Amino acid sequence: MECKRERNETMCTCSFSCTRKGLCCECVKHHREKGQLPGCYFSEEMEKTGDRSIEAFFRDWQAR
Ligand code: SF4
Repeated sequence: MECKRERNETMCTCSFSCTRKGLCCECVKHHREKGQLPGCYFSEEMEKTGDRSIEAFFRDWQAR
């Protein structure tokens, strides 16, 4: 299976500079191991805070 990194980068909503950008499989693994969610799960405003915790996700979701 071919890597879709280039295509993924055009859709990535993460505002942080990171070696995993566009490598969604590595991004998910990295944040899952830390008990977090990837940046694309968050609103634009919450994503910019860099808080990837599940608690932040719930707060963000409830504010929608
Ligand atoms: S969410 Fe985290 S791992 Fe994914 S691109 Fe952004 S900083 Fe990198």
